Amino acid sequence: MVFPFNDITDFNISLRPEHELFRKSVRKFAEDILEPLVPEIERSGEIPEIVFDKAREAGLFGVGVPEEYGGQGEDIISYVILKEELARVCPAFSALIGANHLFMIPVLLFGNEEQKRKYIPPVARGEKFAAHANTEPCCGSDIAGIQTTATLEGNKYIINGRKIFITNAGKADYFFVTARTSPPKEGKRWWGITAFIVEKSFPGVKIGSKFDVIGLNGEHPYEVILDNAEVPIENVLNTPYKNVRDPVNEGFKIALITYDRSRIGIAAQGVGIAEAVLEKALKYSLERHTFGQPIISYQGISFKIADMLINLQAARLLTYWAATLAIQDREEYILAASLAKTLATEVAEKSALYAIKIHGGLGVDKEVGIERYLRDAVITTIYEGTNDIQRLTIIRQLLKRLK
Ligand SMILES: Cc1cc2nc3c(=O)[nH]c(=O)nc-3n(C[C@H](O)[C@H](O)[C@H](O)COP(=O)(O)OP(=O)(O)OC[C@H]3O[C@@H](n4cnc5c(N)ncnc54)[C@H](O)[C@@H]3O)c2cc1C
Repeated sequence: MVFPFNDITDFNISLRPEHELFRKSVRKFAEDILEPLVPEIERSGEIPEIVFDKAREAGLFGVGVPEEYGGQGEDIISYVILKEELARVCPAFSALIGANHLFMIPVLLFGNEEQKRKYIPPVARGEKFAAHANTEPCCGSDIAGIQTTATLEGNKYIINGRKIFITNAGKADYFFVTARTSPPKEGKRWWGITAFIVEKSFPGVKIGSKFDVIGLNGEHPYEVILDNAEVPIENVLNTPYKNVRDPVNEGFKIALITYDRSRIGIAAQGVGIAEAVLEKALKYSLERHTFGQPIISYQGISFKIADMLINLQAARLLTYWAATLAIQDREEYILAASLAKTLATEVAEKSALYAIKIHGGLGVDKEVGIERYLRDAVITTIYEGTNDIQRLTIIRQLLKRLK
């Protein structure tokens, strides 16, 4: 036994030559299309339309989505590659792609055939945008505490509440929304929440104010207000899957299963950021001379670069390993994905700070474009389950394995 896993072969990572071809194509997209626009994106806070047009042409919105629903095929490793390569250049665009997936994952898992045929293909083809609306002013980590309510009236649910920090909400046509449909059961605080597909065009759905957060410029989150929002009963996500036998009132589990799947994309974002800042710091440390020598000749600099590489490689291996377990639908995946998300996002944060210091004054000059990676990295440690919440998952999963 290789604690806490069973077998040394549990550590296999399965990558194929097609993955490398795909990686190269995404890198070309990121460097040719996105990179020249990054200064404009940072200034305006908006991703220009040309990026969406080119991403649509390249099929980047449907990576990891089954072909029968308009995607490029179900391959989590390709999705990880996509998120990593985009984050290396523009973490905000990587986040935008991730928000679409935060809608598609629960619809693919818990939607019926009609819901999947209606809502997945337009998002997978990049014709429509989608968002995941769960967090509320009262509750982010504490999903069971949400206060949005959904009351059945005839053949419609009437939803009332406020969702905050919703990525993509400014553009989204479709929303995944959680709301309380029943009071909690004794000893089961989480019970009584239901998940819905809500269209922006439904009566009572309003997009509120934009959150001016420190990073991911180009993809600022918004408030979503549900003011007597009218949602047809057929928009409840109610197909049983795994341990969710009666999805109505078990929307808490739907949200958690969704994050288990999507979290690996945030790990990949961390890897992309860590790679970008390492490349930039290494290049600068070879070019910049002080006291007649390149600064890489000083151990204060070179040891930081060595640490950045050690951490990047560890984070990347953990992320690709977790993706391999996900493809195999192994139960160890939940633990692996939390390990990967925590390590990769913290590595990204630390490496971005090192890169700033290695660049001296230029490190904090916005024009140079290093400091933005730190602002973006901090957010990756917070959303889709803060790293404290990941540590809780890690311990819970570890203790389960000891039983
Ligand atoms: C840029 C951005 C985009 C986002 N996009 C989305 C989105 O698209 N959809 C969506 O639904 N939400 C989104 N969020 C919300 C995000 O998921 C939450 O902010 C996050 O889950 C934390 O919740 P909170 O802000 O309520 O913090 P809280 O849950 O109040 O946590 C505050 C602090 O306490 C710690 N903490 C809380 N509980 C525990 C515990 N039990 N043990 C140890 N520590 C604990 C946390 O780690 C954190 O440090 C986004 C947030 C940001 C910043």
